[in-house]
Amino acid sequence: MTSNSNMATTDLNLSCLCGNVTGTLRDAGSATGDHVICHCSDCRRFAHLLDQDARILDSNGGTALFQTRCARLWIRTGRDDLRCVHLTDKPTLRWYAACCRTPMFNSYATGRVPYLTAFVANLDSDRRAQVLGPPVSLLFAEEATGDVGKVSKFSMPRFILRFVLRMAKDIIGGDRRRSPLFEPQSLRPISPPRRLEASDTKIP
Ligand SMILES: [Zn+2]
Ligand SMILES: [Zn+2]
Repeated sequence: MTSNSNMATTDLNLSCLCGNVTGTLRDAGSATGDHVICHCSDCRRFAHLLDQDARILDSNGGTALFQTRCARLWIRTGRDDLRCVHLTDKPTLRWYAACCRTPMFNSYATGRVPYLTAFVANLDSDRRAQVLGPPVSLLFAEEATGDVGKVSKFSMPRFILRFVLRMAKDIIGGDRRRSPLFEPQSLRPISPPRRLEASDTKIP
């Protein structure tokens, strides 16, 4: 991936596997977002449903994610090929690129609750380690497939506060209407969500 000249040093380009969906995650530095590894079984199942275990999951079944503000995502190409599913009756919406079945983002069910989680595997591989910094937290370590130990730069209350403050800024400042994943007025997802069954083993 190439950088263009007006990119800030904390901007990271992103792409699905086939290169159809491209964009930029702006301001992806560790001061304003959180690089985490999630070991929850839902994250693991999402990678598995798209046959991307090897690319997405680490040796303990963890998924590297970057939690940031919704309007920091800019989709340059392929927005029409984004699809979303609910894996369970929880409100988490899982986004993927239908062109090549790449897991892309997690969000809330509607844009009313604005947060964006990007899959680190899709971010510029030459620069992401330097820009994101090391993981600040291992989430759902008890669901990991191995012993992951403990990484926690912030206490859990402080970590949650960071998340809530980012959302509050997006609600108060109006940025939740600037997410590329939701319609600006209705705050509905740009693609109608599908709800998978527990028995589903594949997202086609
Ligand atoms: Zn693709
Ligand atoms: Zn998870």
